Amino acid sequence: MFPVKGLARLPALSLLLLLLLARQLHAEQAVLRFDWDQEILNLGLHDDNSTEQANDGCIKACHLLQRLLPVTTDSARTTAYAKEEYWSSRQAEVTPQCFVQPTTAEEVASIVSLVSKTKCRFAVKSGGHGAFAGASSIEAGLTIDLQLLNELSLEDAEQPTVTRVGPGNRWIDVYDYLTPRNLSVLGGRVAEVGVGGFTLGGGISFFSPKYGWALDGVRNYELVTPDARILQVNRDSYPDLYWALRGGGKNFGIVTRFDLETFPQGPMWGGVTYSDVQHTEEVIDAFEKFAFNAPQDLDAHAYIFLDFTDDIDRLRAGSVLAYARAVEYPEALGNFTKIPTVRSTLRSTDVADLAREISALNPTNMRWSYSTATFVVSKEMLRACVDIFIEEAETIKHREGVVPVLVLQLITKDVISRFSRNGGNCLGIEDGEGPLLLLNFPVKWTRAEDDAAVLGAAKRIRDRTTQRARKLGLYHRYLYQNYADGEQEVFASYGEENLKKLRDISRKYDPAQVFQKLQPGYFKL
Ligand SMILES: Cc1cc2nc3c(=O)[nH]c(=O)nc-3n(C[C@H](O)[C@H](O)[C@H](O)COP(=O)(O)OP(=O)(O)OC[C@H]3O[C@@H](n4cnc5c(N)ncnc54)[C@H](O)[C@@H]3O)c2cc1C
Repeated sequence: MFPVKGLARLPALSLLLLLLLARQLHAEQAVLRFDWDQEILNLGLHDDNSTEQANDGCIKACHLLQRLLPVTTDSARTTAYAKEEYWSSRQAEVTPQCFVQPTTAEEVASIVSLVSKTKCRFAVKSGGHGAFAGASSIEAGLTIDLQLLNELSLEDAEQPTVTRVGPGNRWIDVYDYLTPRNLSVLGGRVAEVGVGGFTLGGGISFFSPKYGWALDGVRNYELVTPDARILQVNRDSYPDLYWALRGGGKNFGIVTRFDLETFPQGPMWGGVTYSDVQHTEEVIDAFEKFAFNAPQDLDAHAYIFLDFTDDIDRLRAGSVLAYARAVEYPEALGNFTKIPTVRSTLRSTDVADLAREISALNPTNMRWSYSTATFVVSKEMLRACVDIFIEEAETIKHREGVVPVLVLQLITKDVISRFSRNGGNCLGIEDGEGPLLLLNFPVKWTRAEDDAAVLGAAKRIRDRTTQRARKLGLYHRYLYQNYADGEQEVFASYGEENLKKLRDISRKYDPAQVFQKLQPGYFKL
Protein backbone atom coordinates (compact mmCIF):
# COMPACT_ATOMS: atom_id res chain seq x y z
CA MET A 1 0.00 0.00 0.00
CA PHE A 2 2.63 2.48 1.11
CA PRO A 3 4.98 2.24 -1.95
CA VAL A 4 2.04 2.51 -4.31
CA LYS A 5 0.92 5.60 -2.57
CA GLY A 6 4.50 6.93 -2.76
CA LEU A 7 4.71 6.11 -6.45
CA ALA A 8 1.35 7.68 -7.07
CA ARG A 9 2.59 10.87 -5.45
CA LEU A 10 5.74 11.03 -7.54
CA PRO A 11 4.32 12.87 -10.56
CA ALA A 12 2.72 15.46 -8.30
CA LEU A 13 5.99 15.96 -6.44
CA SER A 14 7.95 16.27 -9.68
CA LEU A 15 5.45 18.78 -10.93
CA LEU A 16 5.84 20.77 -7.75
CA LEU A 17 9.64 20.68 -8.06
CA LEU A 18 9.41 21.75 -11.67
CA LEU A 19 7.11 24.59 -10.74
CA LEU A 20 9.44 25.71 -7.97
CA LEU A 21 12.36 25.54 -10.40
CA ALA A 22 10.42 27.50 -12.98
CA ARG A 23 9.52 30.14 -10.43
CA GLN A 24 13.14 30.33 -9.33
CA LEU A 25 14.24 30.70 -12.95
CA HIS A 26 11.62 33.34 -13.49
CA ALA A 27 12.84 35.24 -10.43
CA GLU A 28 16.40 35.00 -11.72
CA GLN A 29 15.27 36.11 -15.14
CA ALA A 30 13.57 39.09 -13.64
CA VAL A 31 16.77 39.93 -11.80
CA LEU A 32 18.82 39.49 -14.98
CA ARG A 33 16.40 41.64 -16.96
CA PHE A 34 16.73 44.23 -14.29
CA ASP A 35 20.21 45.03 -15.56
CA TRP A 36 19.24 46.82 -18.74
CA ASP A 37 22.61 48.44 -19.47
CA GLN A 38 23.95 45.89 -21.93
CA GLU A 39 20.66 45.61 -23.77
CA ILE A 40 20.45 49.37 -24.08
CA LEU A 41 24.00 49.51 -25.42
CA ASN A 42 23.13 46.79 -27.93
CA LEU A 43 20.32 48.96 -29.18
CA GLY A 44 22.68 51.90 -29.51
CA LEU A 45 21.08 54.12 -26.88
CA HIS A 46 23.66 55.89 -24.76
CA ASP A 47 23.28 58.12 -21.77
CA ASP A 48 23.73 61.22 -23.88
CA ASN A 49 20.70 61.05 -26.13
CA SER A 50 20.32 64.78 -26.57
CA THR A 51 20.35 64.51 -30.34
CA GLU A 52 17.61 61.90 -30.39
CA GLN A 53 13.95 62.59 -30.99
CA ALA A 54 11.99 63.21 -27.80
CA ASN A 55 10.33 59.80 -27.80
CA ASP A 56 13.27 57.75 -29.11
CA GLY A 57 13.92 56.63 -25.56
CA CYS A 58 10.37 55.32 -25.34
CA ILE A 59 10.54 53.51 -28.67
CA LYS A 60 13.57 51.70 -27.29
CA ALA A 61 12.10 51.21 -23.83
CA CYS A 62 8.94 49.72 -25.33
CA HIS A 63 11.03 47.46 -27.55
CA LEU A 64 13.19 46.24 -24.65
CA LEU A 65 10.28 45.76 -22.30
CA GLN A 66 8.78 43.22 -24.68
CA ARG A 67 11.51 40.84 -23.57
CA LEU A 68 10.19 40.93 -20.02
CA LEU A 69 6.47 41.47 -20.27
CA PRO A 70 3.60 41.63 -22.72
CA VAL A 71 3.79 45.19 -24.06
CA THR A 72 1.39 46.72 -26.54
CA THR A 73 3.01 49.00 -29.11
CA ASP A 74 0.58 48.57 -31.99
CA SER A 75 -0.90 52.03 -32.57
CA ALA A 76 -4.46 50.85 -33.25
CA ARG A 77 -4.41 48.90 -29.99
CA THR A 78 -2.86 51.70 -27.94
CA THR A 79 -5.51 54.09 -29.25
CA ALA A 80 -8.30 51.63 -28.44
CA TYR A 81 -6.74 50.98 -25.03
CA ALA A 82 -6.72 54.70 -24.18
CA LYS A 83 -10.38 55.03 -25.16
CA GLU A 84 -11.46 52.19 -22.90
CA GLU A 85 -9.33 52.77 -19.87
CA TYR A 86 -9.99 56.36 -18.87
CA TRP A 87 -12.99 57.98 -17.27
CA SER A 88 -12.65 61.35 -19.03
CA SER A 89 -12.26 61.47 -22.79
CA ARG A 90 -9.73 64.29 -22.39
CA GLN A 91 -7.38 61.61 -21.03
CA ALA A 92 -8.53 59.02 -23.53
CA GLU A 93 -7.41 61.19 -26.46
CA VAL A 94 -3.80 60.80 -25.39
CA THR A 95 -2.08 57.88 -27.11
CA PRO A 96 1.06 56.37 -25.59
CA GLN A 97 3.93 54.84 -27.53
CA CYS A 98 3.12 51.66 -25.63
CA PHE A 99 1.51 50.51 -22.44
CA VAL A 100 2.58 47.82 -20.05
CA GLN A 101 0.67 46.02 -17.31
CA PRO A 102 3.06 44.66 -14.67
CA THR A 103 1.90 41.92 -12.32
CA THR A 104 4.47 42.21 -9.52
CA ALA A 105 6.41 44.90 -7.68
CA GLU A 106 9.60 43.38 -9.15
CA GLU A 107 8.31 43.98 -12.66
CA VAL A 108 7.42 47.56 -11.73
CA ALA A 109 10.96 48.01 -10.42
CA SER A 110 12.39 46.73 -13.71
CA ILE A 111 10.20 49.15 -15.65
CA VAL A 112 11.20 52.10 -13.45
CA SER A 113 14.84 51.20 -13.92
CA LEU A 114 14.37 51.04 -17.69
CA VAL A 115 12.54 54.36 -18.07
CA SER A 116 15.25 56.01 -16.06
CA LYS A 117 18.03 54.56 -18.23
CA THR A 118 16.29 55.24 -21.55
CA LYS A 119 14.96 58.64 -20.43
CA CYS A 120 11.53 57.54 -21.56
CA ARG A 121 8.72 59.80 -20.37
CA PHE A 122 6.01 57.87 -18.58
CA ALA A 123 2.66 58.04 -16.80
CA VAL A 124 1.31 55.78 -14.07
CA LYS A 125 -2.34 54.76 -14.13
CA SER A 126 -4.46 53.17 -11.42
CA GLY A 127 -8.21 53.72 -11.94
CA GLY A 128 -7.74 56.38 -14.65
CA HIS A 129 -10.15 58.88 -13.02
CA GLY A 130 -7.88 61.90 -13.26
CA ALA A 131 -9.96 64.30 -15.40
CA PHE A 132 -7.45 66.18 -17.54
CA ALA A 133 -5.19 65.05 -20.38
CA GLY A 134 -1.93 63.64 -19.08
CA ALA A 135 -3.11 63.06 -15.50
CA SER A 136 -2.38 59.35 -15.88
CA SER A 137 -1.78 59.19 -19.63
CA ILE A 138 1.12 60.28 -21.82
CA GLU A 139 1.39 61.13 -25.48
CA ALA A 140 4.06 59.01 -27.22
CA GLY A 141 5.44 57.84 -23.87
CA LEU A 142 5.09 54.72 -21.75
CA THR A 143 1.92 54.18 -19.75
CA ILE A 144 2.49 51.97 -16.72
CA ASP A 145 -0.98 50.59 -16.12
CA LEU A 146 -1.28 49.01 -12.68
CA GLN A 147 -4.55 47.16 -13.26
CA LEU A 148 -3.03 43.68 -12.88
CA LEU A 149 -1.61 44.56 -9.47
CA ASN A 150 -4.95 43.63 -8.01
CA GLU A 151 -4.19 41.84 -4.78
CA LEU A 152 -7.04 41.89 -2.30
CA SER A 153 -6.53 40.00 0.94
CA LEU A 154 -6.89 40.28 4.69
CA GLU A 155 -3.57 40.37 6.51
CA ASP A 156 -5.00 38.21 9.28
CA ALA A 157 -8.33 36.56 8.50
CA GLU A 158 -8.89 35.73 12.19
CA GLN A 159 -8.43 39.30 13.38
CA PRO A 160 -8.91 41.41 10.29
CA THR A 161 -7.53 44.87 10.98
CA VAL A 162 -5.59 45.37 7.73
CA THR A 163 -6.58 44.75 4.10
CA ARG A 164 -3.86 44.50 1.47
CA VAL A 165 -5.07 46.29 -1.63
CA GLY A 166 -3.26 46.45 -4.96
CA PRO A 167 -3.58 49.71 -6.94
CA GLY A 168 -5.19 47.79 -9.80
CA ASN A 169 -8.41 47.61 -7.81
CA ARG A 170 -11.34 49.96 -8.15
CA TRP A 171 -13.18 50.73 -4.92
CA ILE A 172 -16.07 48.53 -5.93
CA ASP A 173 -13.71 45.53 -6.01
CA VAL A 174 -12.66 46.33 -2.46
CA TYR A 175 -16.24 46.78 -1.25
CA ASP A 176 -17.45 43.61 -2.95
CA TYR A 177 -14.70 41.78 -1.10
CA LEU A 178 -15.15 43.38 2.33
CA THR A 179 -18.90 44.09 2.57
CA PRO A 180 -20.00 40.42 2.83
CA ARG A 181 -17.44 40.10 5.64
CA ASN A 182 -19.01 43.07 7.49
CA LEU A 183 -15.78 45.01 7.10
CA SER A 184 -14.74 48.17 5.32
CA VAL A 185 -11.92 50.66 4.68
CA LEU A 186 -11.67 54.37 3.91
CA GLY A 187 -12.45 54.14 0.20
CA GLY A 188 -14.12 56.19 -2.52
CA ARG A 189 -17.80 56.99 -2.68
CA VAL A 190 -17.90 56.14 -6.38
CA ALA A 191 -17.55 52.52 -7.44
CA GLU A 192 -15.15 52.82 -10.38
CA VAL A 193 -12.63 55.26 -8.91
CA GLY A 194 -9.15 53.73 -8.57
CA VAL A 195 -7.48 52.94 -5.28
CA GLY A 196 -4.15 54.55 -6.32
CA GLY A 197 -4.82 58.20 -7.14
CA PHE A 198 -7.62 58.46 -4.59
CA THR A 199 -5.47 57.31 -1.67
CA LEU A 200 -2.31 59.21 -2.64
CA GLY A 201 -4.17 62.53 -3.00
CA GLY A 202 -6.40 62.40 0.09
CA GLY A 203 -9.51 60.27 -0.13
CA ILE A 204 -12.88 61.41 1.21
CA SER A 205 -14.98 58.44 2.23
CA PHE A 206 -18.48 57.91 3.63
CA PHE A 207 -16.67 56.93 6.82
CA SER A 208 -14.36 59.95 7.01
CA PRO A 209 -16.24 61.65 9.87
CA LYS A 210 -15.26 58.76 12.13
CA TYR A 211 -11.88 57.68 10.77
CA GLY A 212 -10.45 60.55 8.68
CA TRP A 213 -9.38 60.56 5.04
CA ALA A 214 -8.06 57.51 3.23
CA LEU A 215 -4.46 58.72 3.48
CA ASP A 216 -4.78 58.56 7.26
CA GLY A 217 -5.85 54.93 7.11
CA VAL A 218 -2.80 53.55 5.28
CA ARG A 219 -0.67 51.46 7.64
CA ASN A 220 1.97 50.59 5.08
CA TYR A 221 2.82 51.31 1.45
CA GLU A 222 4.75 48.90 -0.71
CA LEU A 223 6.67 51.38 -2.84
CA VAL A 224 8.91 51.08 -5.86
CA THR A 225 11.24 54.03 -5.47
CA PRO A 226 12.58 56.12 -8.37
CA ASP A 227 15.88 54.23 -8.05
CA ALA A 228 13.95 50.96 -8.42
CA ARG A 229 14.12 49.63 -4.88
CA ILE A 230 11.09 47.97 -3.32
CA LEU A 231 10.41 49.40 0.13
CA GLN A 232 7.83 48.73 2.81
CA VAL A 233 7.06 52.27 3.91
CA ASN A 234 5.40 52.79 7.27
CA ARG A 235 5.70 55.04 10.27
CA ASP A 236 8.59 53.04 11.73
CA SER A 237 10.56 52.11 8.61
CA TYR A 238 10.72 55.37 6.62
CA PRO A 239 8.82 58.06 8.58
CA ASP A 240 9.74 60.87 6.16
CA LEU A 241 8.57 58.98 3.08
CA TYR A 242 5.47 57.79 4.94
CA TRP A 243 4.58 61.40 5.74
CA ALA A 244 5.21 62.46 2.13
CA LEU A 245 3.08 59.70 0.62
CA ARG A 246 0.13 60.88 2.66
CA GLY A 247 -0.92 63.59 0.23
CA GLY A 248 2.20 63.75 -1.95
CA GLY A 249 0.59 62.03 -4.96
CA LYS A 250 2.69 60.42 -7.64
CA ASN A 251 5.96 62.13 -6.75
CA PHE A 252 7.79 59.57 -4.62
CA GLY A 253 7.57 56.33 -6.57
CA ILE A 254 4.95 53.82 -7.60
CA VAL A 255 2.87 52.26 -4.84
CA THR A 256 2.35 48.59 -5.61
CA ARG A 257 0.28 47.80 -2.52
CA PHE A 258 -1.64 49.75 0.10
CA ASP A 259 -2.15 48.09 3.50
CA LEU A 260 -5.34 49.71 4.70
CA GLU A 261 -6.73 49.91 8.22
CA THR A 262 -9.90 47.86 8.28
CA PHE A 263 -12.89 48.30 10.56
CA PRO A 264 -16.20 46.54 11.22
CA GLN A 265 -18.97 47.89 8.98
CA GLY A 266 -22.47 46.52 8.52
CA PRO A 267 -25.57 47.76 6.73
CA MET A 268 -26.04 51.51 6.26
CA TRP A 269 -28.67 54.01 5.27
CA GLY A 270 -28.42 56.74 2.64
CA GLY A 271 -28.88 57.89 -0.93
CA VAL A 272 -29.30 60.99 -3.06
CA THR A 273 -32.02 63.65 -2.76
CA TYR A 274 -33.11 66.22 -5.35
CA SER A 275 -35.22 69.28 -4.49
CA ASP A 276 -36.62 72.12 -6.55
CA VAL A 277 -34.31 75.09 -6.76
CA GLN A 278 -36.56 77.17 -4.48
CA HIS A 279 -35.37 74.96 -1.61
CA THR A 280 -31.72 75.91 -2.13
CA GLU A 281 -31.70 78.15 0.94
CA GLU A 282 -32.99 75.27 3.11
CA VAL A 283 -30.31 72.96 1.72
CA ILE A 284 -27.63 75.56 2.50
CA ASP A 285 -29.07 76.03 5.95
CA ALA A 286 -29.08 72.28 6.69
CA PHE A 287 -25.51 71.99 5.42
CA GLU A 288 -24.22 74.89 7.49
CA LYS A 289 -25.83 73.49 10.64
CA PHE A 290 -24.44 70.06 9.85
CA ALA A 291 -20.94 71.54 9.47
CA PHE A 292 -20.98 72.79 13.03
CA ASN A 293 -23.03 69.96 14.59
CA ALA A 294 -21.42 67.04 12.78
CA PRO A 295 -19.10 66.24 15.70
CA GLN A 296 -22.13 65.02 17.61
CA ASP A 297 -22.66 62.00 15.39
CA LEU A 298 -19.66 60.55 13.59
CA ASP A 299 -21.79 58.07 11.65
CA ALA A 300 -23.37 60.87 9.62
CA HIS A 301 -21.92 62.08 6.33
CA ALA A 302 -23.43 64.67 3.99
CA TYR A 303 -22.58 66.87 1.06
CA ILE A 304 -24.70 69.06 -1.16
CA PHE A 305 -24.84 69.93 -4.84
CA LEU A 306 -26.58 72.06 -7.41
CA ASP A 307 -27.15 70.51 -10.80
CA PHE A 308 -29.44 70.74 -13.79
CA THR A 309 -32.16 68.42 -15.02
CA ASP A 310 -31.34 66.46 -18.18
CA ASP A 311 -32.92 69.08 -20.42
CA ILE A 312 -30.58 71.57 -18.66
CA ASP A 313 -33.45 74.02 -18.10
CA ARG A 314 -34.17 73.44 -14.46
CA LEU A 315 -31.71 73.88 -11.63
CA ARG A 316 -31.98 71.49 -8.67
CA ALA A 317 -30.49 71.50 -5.20
CA GLY A 318 -29.61 68.15 -3.73
CA SER A 319 -27.71 66.21 -1.13
CA VAL A 320 -25.84 62.95 -0.81
CA LEU A 321 -26.51 61.51 2.62
CA ALA A 322 -24.99 58.48 4.30
CA TYR A 323 -25.33 57.05 7.74
CA ALA A 324 -22.89 54.33 8.75
CA ARG A 325 -25.45 52.34 10.76
CA ALA A 326 -28.76 50.76 9.76
CA VAL A 327 -30.83 53.63 11.14
CA GLU A 328 -33.47 55.18 8.89
CA TYR A 329 -33.78 58.96 8.87
CA PRO A 330 -31.22 59.51 11.64
CA GLU A 331 -31.59 62.65 13.68
CA ALA A 332 -28.17 63.97 12.65
CA LEU A 333 -29.40 64.24 9.05
CA GLY A 334 -32.89 65.47 9.99
CA ASN A 335 -32.38 69.01 8.66
CA PHE A 336 -31.75 67.54 5.21
CA THR A 337 -34.47 64.90 5.21
CA LYS A 338 -37.23 67.34 6.15
CA ILE A 339 -36.68 69.34 2.92
CA PRO A 340 -39.32 68.44 0.28
CA THR A 341 -37.84 66.48 -2.61
CA VAL A 342 -38.77 65.84 -6.23
CA ARG A 343 -36.76 62.65 -6.14
CA SER A 344 -35.03 60.69 -3.41
CA THR A 345 -33.18 57.37 -3.27
CA LEU A 346 -32.79 57.31 0.53
CA ARG A 347 -32.96 53.70 1.66
CA SER A 348 -31.36 50.95 3.70
CA THR A 349 -28.20 50.11 1.83
CA ASP A 350 -24.53 49.22 2.09
CA VAL A 351 -21.37 50.93 0.92
CA ALA A 352 -21.07 48.91 -2.30
CA ASP A 353 -24.65 49.69 -3.28
CA LEU A 354 -24.26 53.41 -2.54
CA ALA A 355 -20.98 53.59 -4.46
CA ARG A 356 -22.65 51.95 -7.48
CA GLU A 357 -25.50 54.43 -7.37
CA ILE A 358 -23.19 57.45 -7.36
CA SER A 359 -21.04 55.91 -10.08
CA ALA A 360 -24.03 55.92 -12.42
CA LEU A 361 -24.22 59.73 -12.04
CA ASN A 362 -20.68 60.08 -13.41
CA PRO A 363 -20.68 58.52 -16.89
CA THR A 364 -17.53 57.79 -18.91
CA ASN A 365 -16.88 58.81 -22.53
CA MET A 366 -17.47 62.49 -21.78
CA ARG A 367 -15.02 65.36 -21.50
CA TRP A 368 -14.72 66.16 -17.79
CA SER A 369 -13.12 68.86 -15.72
CA TYR A 370 -12.76 69.15 -11.94
CA SER A 371 -11.75 72.33 -10.16
CA THR A 372 -11.42 73.26 -6.50
CA ALA A 373 -11.08 75.91 -3.79
CA THR A 374 -11.29 75.87 0.02
CA PHE A 375 -12.98 78.30 2.38
CA VAL A 376 -13.99 78.62 5.99
CA VAL A 377 -17.62 77.50 6.36
CA SER A 378 -20.20 80.26 6.63
CA LYS A 379 -23.67 80.77 5.25
CA GLU A 380 -22.52 83.86 3.39
CA MET A 381 -19.77 81.92 1.65
CA LEU A 382 -22.13 79.07 0.79
CA ARG A 383 -24.52 81.55 -0.79
CA ALA A 384 -21.66 83.21 -2.67
CA CYS A 385 -20.60 79.83 -4.11
CA VAL A 386 -24.16 79.14 -5.25
CA ASP A 387 -24.67 82.62 -6.80
CA ILE A 388 -21.36 82.60 -8.65
CA PHE A 389 -21.96 79.05 -9.87
CA ILE A 390 -25.38 79.99 -11.27
CA GLU A 391 -23.98 83.05 -13.06
CA GLU A 392 -21.07 81.17 -14.59
CA ALA A 393 -23.11 78.07 -15.45
CA GLU A 394 -25.36 80.39 -17.43
CA THR A 395 -22.43 81.26 -19.73
CA ILE A 396 -21.86 77.64 -20.83
CA LYS A 397 -24.92 75.52 -20.13
CA HIS A 398 -26.60 76.02 -23.50
CA ARG A 399 -23.63 74.65 -25.42
CA GLU A 400 -24.38 71.16 -26.67
CA GLY A 401 -23.83 68.48 -24.03
CA VAL A 402 -22.47 70.83 -21.32
CA VAL A 403 -23.64 69.95 -17.79
CA PRO A 404 -22.15 72.01 -14.95
CA VAL A 405 -22.49 70.88 -11.33
CA LEU A 406 -21.55 72.54 -8.05
CA VAL A 407 -20.53 70.21 -5.23
CA LEU A 408 -19.93 71.53 -1.72
CA GLN A 409 -18.32 69.29 0.89
CA LEU A 410 -16.86 69.61 4.34
CA ILE A 411 -13.55 69.00 5.99
CA THR A 412 -14.97 68.77 9.48
CA LYS A 413 -13.11 69.44 12.70
CA ASP A 414 -13.12 65.70 13.39
CA VAL A 415 -11.56 64.90 10.05
CA ILE A 416 -8.87 67.51 10.64
CA SER A 417 -8.16 66.15 14.10
CA ARG A 418 -7.38 62.78 12.46
CA PHE A 419 -4.86 64.33 10.07
CA SER A 420 -2.30 64.27 12.87
CA ARG A 421 -2.59 60.49 13.41
CA ASN A 422 0.50 58.34 12.83
CA GLY A 423 2.87 61.27 12.52
CA GLY A 424 0.57 63.46 10.43
CA ASN A 425 0.17 64.07 6.71
CA CYS A 426 1.58 66.73 4.40
CA LEU A 427 -1.65 68.61 3.53
CA GLY A 428 -0.82 71.53 5.80
CA ILE A 429 -4.23 71.79 7.48
CA GLU A 430 -3.96 72.32 11.22
CA ASP A 431 -6.28 71.52 14.11
CA GLY A 432 -8.53 74.48 14.83
CA GLU A 433 -8.84 75.51 11.16
CA GLY A 434 -12.10 73.68 10.54
CA PRO A 435 -14.76 73.16 9.61
CA LEU A 436 -13.67 73.96 6.05
CA LEU A 437 -15.78 74.15 2.92
CA LEU A 438 -14.46 72.29 -0.09
CA LEU A 439 -15.74 73.54 -3.42
CA ASN A 440 -15.68 71.21 -6.39
CA PHE A 441 -16.92 72.25 -9.81
CA PRO A 442 -17.32 69.17 -12.04
CA VAL A 443 -18.43 69.82 -15.61
CA LYS A 444 -19.06 67.30 -18.33
CA TRP A 445 -19.28 68.15 -22.00
CA THR A 446 -18.91 66.51 -25.38
CA ARG A 447 -17.15 68.74 -27.92
CA ALA A 448 -13.47 69.66 -27.89
CA GLU A 449 -14.33 73.08 -29.37
CA ASP A 450 -16.07 73.93 -26.08
CA ASP A 451 -12.96 73.25 -23.99
CA ALA A 452 -11.91 76.89 -23.73
CA ALA A 453 -15.38 78.12 -22.76
CA VAL A 454 -15.88 75.42 -20.12
CA LEU A 455 -12.41 75.70 -18.62
CA GLY A 456 -12.76 79.49 -18.65
CA ALA A 457 -15.97 79.26 -16.61
CA ALA A 458 -14.29 76.85 -14.19
CA LYS A 459 -11.42 79.27 -13.67
CA ARG A 460 -13.76 82.20 -13.15
CA ILE A 461 -15.73 80.24 -10.55
CA ARG A 462 -12.65 79.46 -8.49
CA ASP A 463 -11.19 82.96 -8.95
CA ARG A 464 -14.41 84.76 -8.08
CA THR A 465 -15.25 82.58 -5.07
CA THR A 466 -11.68 82.94 -3.83
CA GLN A 467 -11.85 86.71 -4.25
CA ARG A 468 -15.12 86.82 -2.32
CA ALA A 469 -13.69 84.62 0.43
CA ARG A 470 -10.66 86.87 0.79
CA LYS A 471 -12.95 89.86 1.15
CA LEU A 472 -14.98 88.08 3.82
CA GLY A 473 -11.87 86.82 5.61
CA LEU A 474 -12.94 83.23 4.83
CA TYR A 475 -10.21 82.18 2.39
CA HIS A 476 -8.17 79.04 3.02
CA ARG A 477 -5.10 78.30 0.89
CA TYR A 478 -5.57 74.51 0.67
CA LEU A 479 -6.30 72.95 -2.73
CA TYR A 480 -7.51 69.37 -2.69
CA GLN A 481 -5.33 67.41 -5.12
CA ASN A 482 -8.07 64.96 -6.08
CA TYR A 483 -10.39 67.74 -7.24
CA ALA A 484 -7.83 70.20 -8.61
CA ASP A 485 -7.59 71.32 -12.22
CA GLY A 486 -4.23 70.66 -13.88
CA GLU A 487 -3.23 74.31 -13.72
CA GLN A 488 -3.81 74.72 -9.97
CA GLU A 489 -0.75 74.82 -7.69
CA VAL A 490 -1.60 71.97 -5.36
CA PHE A 491 1.67 71.56 -3.48
CA ALA A 492 2.21 75.29 -2.96
CA SER A 493 -1.17 75.20 -1.22
CA TYR A 494 0.25 72.83 1.43
CA GLY A 495 2.30 75.73 2.79
CA GLU A 496 5.91 76.80 2.24
CA GLU A 497 7.35 74.64 4.98
CA ASN A 498 5.61 71.46 3.84
CA LEU A 499 6.52 72.08 0.21
CA LYS A 500 10.18 72.50 1.13
CA LYS A 501 10.05 69.32 3.20
CA LEU A 502 8.42 67.42 0.33
CA ARG A 503 11.10 68.63 -2.08
CA ASP A 504 13.87 67.61 0.34
CA ILE A 505 12.37 64.13 0.70
CA SER A 506 12.02 63.87 -3.06
CA ARG A 507 15.72 64.73 -3.55
CA LYS A 508 16.70 62.23 -0.86
CA TYR A 509 14.89 59.27 -2.48
CA ASP A 510 15.13 60.47 -6.08
CA PRO A 511 18.51 62.21 -6.39
CA ALA A 512 18.30 62.20 -10.20
CA GLN A 513 14.74 63.61 -9.96
CA VAL A 514 13.50 60.94 -12.37
CA PHE A 515 9.89 61.23 -11.19
CA GLN A 516 9.94 65.02 -11.60
CA LYS A 517 11.61 65.10 -15.02
CA LEU A 518 10.28 62.04 -16.81
CA GLN A 519 6.73 62.01 -15.45
CA PRO A 520 5.29 65.26 -16.78
CA GLY A 521 1.59 64.86 -15.98
CA TYR A 522 -0.48 65.66 -12.90
CA PHE A 523 0.86 67.61 -9.92
CA LYS A 524 4.62 67.92 -9.50
CA LEU A 525 6.49 69.36 -6.54
C1 LIG B 1 -16.48 60.06 -10.64
C2 LIG B 1 -15.48 60.44 -9.59
C3 LIG B 1 -15.78 60.28 -8.25
C4 LIG B 1 -14.87 60.63 -7.27
N1 LIG B 1 -15.18 60.44 -5.95
C5 LIG B 1 -14.29 60.80 -5.01
C6 LIG B 1 -14.58 60.62 -3.63
O1 LIG B 1 -15.62 60.09 -3.24
N2 LIG B 1 -13.68 61.06 -2.73
C7 LIG B 1 -12.50 61.63 -3.11
O2 LIG B 1 -11.72 62.00 -2.24
N3 LIG B 1 -12.18 61.77 -4.41
C8 LIG B 1 -13.04 61.39 -5.36
N4 LIG B 1 -12.73 61.57 -6.67
C9 LIG B 1 -11.43 62.12 -7.05
C10 LIG B 1 -10.44 60.96 -7.22
O3 LIG B 1 -10.02 60.57 -5.94
C11 LIG B 1 -9.23 61.37 -8.08
O4 LIG B 1 -9.66 61.65 -9.37
C12 LIG B 1 -8.17 60.27 -8.09
O5 LIG B 1 -6.98 60.79 -8.59
C13 LIG B 1 -8.60 59.09 -8.92
O6 LIG B 1 -7.71 58.04 -8.75
P1 LIG B 1 -7.46 57.01 -9.93
O7 LIG B 1 -6.46 56.05 -9.45
O8 LIG B 1 -8.75 56.51 -10.44
O9 LIG B 1 -6.86 57.97 -11.05
P2 LIG B 1 -5.59 57.90 -12.01
O10 LIG B 1 -5.92 58.87 -13.08
O11 LIG B 1 -5.25 56.52 -12.39
O12 LIG B 1 -4.42 58.46 -11.10
C14 LIG B 1 -4.39 59.79 -10.62
C15 LIG B 1 -2.92 60.17 -10.30
O13 LIG B 1 -2.39 59.32 -9.30
C16 LIG B 1 -1.20 58.66 -9.77
N5 LIG B 1 -1.21 57.29 -9.26
C17 LIG B 1 -2.27 56.45 -9.27
N6 LIG B 1 -1.92 55.29 -8.68
C18 LIG B 1 -0.63 55.41 -8.33
C19 LIG B 1 0.28 54.54 -7.67
N7 LIG B 1 -0.10 53.33 -7.27
N8 LIG B 1 1.55 54.97 -7.45
C20 LIG B 1 1.93 56.21 -7.84
N9 LIG B 1 1.10 57.07 -8.46
C21 LIG B 1 -0.17 56.68 -8.70
C22 LIG B 1 -1.31 58.69 -11.28
O14 LIG B 1 -0.04 58.65 -11.89
C23 LIG B 1 -2.00 60.02 -11.51
O15 LIG B 1 -1.03 61.04 -11.49
C24 LIG B 1 -13.62 61.19 -7.65
C25 LIG B 1 -13.32 61.35 -9.00
C26 LIG B 1 -14.23 60.99 -9.96
C27 LIG B 1 -13.88 61.18 -11.39
